[in-house]
Amino acid sequence: MKKITLVVPCFNEQEALPIFYREATSVMKEIEYEYELLFINDGSKDNTLKILKEIANTDKNVRYISFSRNFGKEAAMYAGFCNADGDYVTVMDADMQDPPSLLIDMLKIIETGEYDSVATRRVNRDGEPPIRSWFAKRFYSLINKISDADIVDGARDFRLMKREMVNAIVAMGETNRFSKGIFGWIGFRTYWLPYENTERVAGTTKWNFWSLFKYAIDGIINFSEAPLDIASWFGIAMTFLAFIFLILIIVRKLCFGDPVAGWASTICVIVFIGGIQLFCMGVMGQYIAKNYSESKHRPHYIVAETNKLNVEEIN
Ligand code: UDP
Ligand code: MG
Repeated sequence: MKKITLVVPCFNEQEALPIFYREATSVMKEIEYEYELLFINDGSKDNTLKILKEIANTDKNVRYISFSRNFGKEAAMYAGFCNADGDYVTVMDADMQDPPSLLIDMLKIIETGEYDSVATRRVNRDGEPPIRSWFAKRFYSLINKISDADIVDGARDFRLMKREMVNAIVAMGETNRFSKGIFGWIGFRTYWLPYENTERVAGTTKWNFWSLFKYAIDGIINFSEAPLDIASWFGIAMTFLAFIFLILIIVRKLCFGDPVAGWASTICVIVFIGGIQLFCMGVMGQYIAKNYSESKHRPHYIVAETNKLNVEEIN
């Protein structure tokens, strides 16, 4: 019998966890697959770990890996992929925004053999602040223009994947992870399943506007070198403008003499160019900083405790 692993990153999910567990288990009982619920406790400060241990004591299909601190959802998903042993693997949020009942349809589609993964895409952004939706839309159209990773607007991390695809993700061992980009970059045949967005059942979102903004910048830096090109083009355009300006000044001097004027405009130009230079240095700094953190080869996460066999404590 084929096995399916549900990877569930959890960060302070004590309210939502029991609801998710009940739902997911009842869906899994409906289908004829072996299954494993692999919860990743990402340094929760509430009773998440306690609840996980209680569930694991009564249900042999439940495994948990608990981190030594909060490493972020990306690290939690990576830990799940590295330690999942199912033939099919899926990532799901613990807050029921990824409805477990969809798994039944997803399994049917993947079993046809025509696709290597079934991914979900929300068709509406109800329950989200309009400003967040606006920025999200701009982000997706921008990143698709400037990178070769194919990132679909509204794509969730919730997707069912075959083992080959999971192996490819595990092989992408970069420290700065942006999973939506990684899924797109590795390729494979993906079926997009649209569904209506729902609000989380309990607890609160772990993202605020700035953390999402930083995540979007990470996505761009990790999957595109276009900002570096833009910085170079700025430089070239400025040199060209300065050259024209120089010719104009020489011509003016020859025709009209050299009255001392134009202090204000000179300062404006200096400040403008200084600003662009700092901006370009900042862009380069972003790439160098990413390079620096990659070169340290720090572990993606540190495991404090687990009930799963063969989990490396540091990865
Ligand atoms: N999550 C995590 N580590 C974090 C932040 C979030 O493991 O540092 C988990 C969280 O418990 C949830 C999932 O990632 O299961 C998605 O988080 P959330 O629902 O807050 O994000 P949203 O749905 O609002 O984008
Ligand atoms: Mg959520």
